[in-house]
Amino acid sequence: MTLYNSIRTLSILLLVLIFNSSCSDSPNESATMLIYGGTIYTVDSTKTKVEAVAVKNDRILYAGNLAEAEKFKTDQTELLDLKGKTMTPGFIEGHGHFMGLGYSELNLDLMNTTSYQAIVDAVAERVKTAKPGEWITGRGWHQSKWDSMPAEIVHGFQTHHLLSEVSPDNPVYLGHASGHAGFANAKAMEIAGLTEMALDGSKTYEVEGGEVLVDALGRPTGIFNERAQTLITQHIPEKTPETDRKAFELAVEACHKNGITSFHDAGIPKETIALYEQMKAEGKMGVRIYAMLTGWDEDLLNQWYKKGIMVDDDHLFTIRSIKLNCDGALGSRGAWLLEPYTDRPDHFGHETLPMEFVKKTAINGLKHGFQVCSHAIGDRANREILDRYEIAFNSMSNKTNNHRFRIEHAQHLHPEDIPRFAELNVIPAMQAVHMSSDRPWAIDRLGEKRIKEGAYMWQSLLQSGVPIVNGTDVPVEPINPVASFYASVSRKTLKGTPEGGYEPEQKMTRSQALRSYTLDAAYGAFEEDIKGSISVGKLADFTVFDQDIINVPENQLLDTKVVMTILNGEVVFNTEK
Ligand SMILES: [Zn+2]
Repeated sequence: MTLYNSIRTLSILLLVLIFNSSCSDSPNESATMLIYGGTIYTVDSTKTKVEAVAVKNDRILYAGNLAEAEKFKTDQTELLDLKGKTMTPGFIEGHGHFMGLGYSELNLDLMNTTSYQAIVDAVAERVKTAKPGEWITGRGWHQSKWDSMPAEIVHGFQTHHLLSEVSPDNPVYLGHASGHAGFANAKAMEIAGLTEMALDGSKTYEVEGGEVLVDALGRPTGIFNERAQTLITQHIPEKTPETDRKAFELAVEACHKNGITSFHDAGIPKETIALYEQMKAEGKMGVRIYAMLTGWDEDLLNQWYKKGIMVDDDHLFTIRSIKLNCDGALGSRGAWLLEPYTDRPDHFGHETLPMEFVKKTAINGLKHGFQVCSHAIGDRANREILDRYEIAFNSMSNKTNNHRFRIEHAQHLHPEDIPRFAELNVIPAMQAVHMSSDRPWAIDRLGEKRIKEGAYMWQSLLQSGVPIVNGTDVPVEPINPVASFYASVSRKTLKGTPEGGYEPEQKMTRSQALRSYTLDAAYGAFEEDIKGSISVGKLADFTVFDQDIINVPENQLLDTKVVMTILNGEVVFNTEK
């Protein structure tokens, strides 16, 4: 029995004990919320599906049949009818970058807009929550993707008037999909001094290597080509405390929309820690953040070794782990390999951190009770890290009973290293959606043998007795967990190819994939006794989907939508409201 399995058994026993005592001691407990009327998957091995869940404040009071659950109902109980939808434990993003998500949200994504009006609408939506004067930026629009062109066109492009109308007080700048042009509103042009120039009439907008498009009267239309873009972009503020706060709030919102109630934030510096503490103090920590300290900042690590881990009673912001970046990515041939790249035979990739530092941090982590999470893509990086972890475990053997060290990504493994994860109790945190995006070309880098024997080895790792923590690495991939869930069980690209999936023997089952996003992700953060399953006494965090993700046919799985998110026993997102 691995450590993982014995801890699971123990926590199930504990929950049964808590459950029994709470039932017999206080039969008159009242629920603040009663959830019923849908398919409820608990990820609790004692009863995998229930009819109803009773919640008291932030905790699960009861999970079982509806008649029993109704005993906890009072006049004050909020009734939540799932209307046939499917509820699971709150989904946990097991590896992402929270501020990266926020900043990508802050920059409006216009890639999928199909008309000028759609762009105007997206900006109008953002104006609602923007303070006067705050810049609104976006990118990705392309007039050739539009269903129809607006009435007013100058030199083949739209003019700023509609945009300026919806955003009179906020400067707007929207980059073209090509990166070679941008589109500004009147306020932005005013800030850049261009309106005055137009009124004056005496100046032209000559920019070397660029062009300001003007209408028949010589007024700028809002389109700036090539280097003329800098006329506007030089006025857009870099990151400020205000944009940080805004990005944070947008990240929380994005999590709620995607059913994410907890987030493993893979490496944050001290400024970000300060921001999170501030946001928490203001009651704005709308997602549970499990943050890893940025490992390259040794001062930060030393400071936290002294201070010790931070695990608060409200479980909103936890710091007890360290992130190390140990190699590069496969696409750029930075992943560190044991044998050369198939498509570049003189090249092995490289380590991005001295392995001596991994050893030192592993030893310090054990000494001070911090988990170590090391980024490794290539088989050499994975092996070297397992080696350093092993040295640390051997030299600190009295501190290794519950270390839960992780390897982030663990994408490409030498077959001999696969069983070492279970032997050393090292958790692989693997983002299944990366396989969907990368597998079509990863074979060029690695060749068929390495792909078949060691790439994205989900089922082999699970069979060996380790849990897998799933996720998306947002903003590298969109945070939508449905895509990663689909990738986990289909091993196909998000276009549904190839038939049968890549290396199908490595697919996860639906219930394994569900665990990887709930209970196993919780385990990867020492939190399996407070989250990850719908079990009595755990936090009332839930995700509701519009269809049954365990039983819907595979070709419909990607259409699944998150329709409701519940955090701390409160509905924080609901498409019906
Ligand atoms: Zn990452």
